[in-house]
Amino acid sequence: MSLQPSDNMIQGKGYIAEIIRTSRRKTASIKVNEGKVSIIVPESLSTEQIESLLTKKHRWIKEKLSLNEETVLIKAKEFVSGESFAYLGRNYRLKVIEGLYPAIKLHQGRFVASVRDKTVNNAPSIKQMLIRWHKQHAESKLIEKTARYAKIISVCPSSAGIKSYQSRWGSCSHTADIHYNWKVIMAPNRIVDYVVVHELCHILHHDHSPAFWQTVERYFPDYLECKEWLKLNGKRLDI
Ligand SMILES: [Zn+2]
Repeated sequence: MSLQPSDNMIQGKGYIAEIIRTSRRKTASIKVNEGKVSIIVPESLSTEQIESLLTKKHRWIKEKLSLNEETVLIKAKEFVSGESFAYLGRNYRLKVIEGLYPAIKLHQGRFVASVRDKTVNNAPSIKQMLIRWHKQHAESKLIEKTARYAKIISVCPSSAGIKSYQSRWGSCSHTADIHYNWKVIMAPNRIVDYVVVHELCHILHHDHSPAFWQTVERYFPDYLECKEWLKLNGKRLDI
């Protein structure tokens, strides 16, 4: 690592970090936002100390940076024939056909969308139909899985349903009402099961304490892999 001429930039391994010095801080913190790395440090911290902090956090920084790259690479959908949409971890191609009524179904390994007139822009309505289809299937699958795992874990949820969340996969209230992010239905079965087990275990532990994770592990030994999968692929699960 070496200092940039400006003195507030530092060259890391494969990235450049901005150094923000402040008298209001006693400890340093590193941020990775939209592909940019910044390190906020107390004014007195030496360049060597900053370098060693970045070295220590190297893996974490690279991981954050690569997540950002993947997000940028996710192309905006156009909702035209040939595009793929996921359901339970499998990708199904979309086929747009003309029909009397707007409708969507999963038929012989394809999402078939019927539109009244193929020559106009149908993207907004096909998107709506796909979302509605996924929400319906998410709801029934997740309710079914919740009932199945509730028996195994010996818990009794008050209700189970779906919601639209920005950045979470589920929630469990103190009254044991469970909601899942419908988008999780695009993930592979095993991942969906993990989210169900995770929320059900919150009926026993309303936090992410070691006791909570021990319970999750008891019923779902490979939960760490699923957690990691969601961290890496979660942003792709969208329509
Ligand atoms: Zn949780």
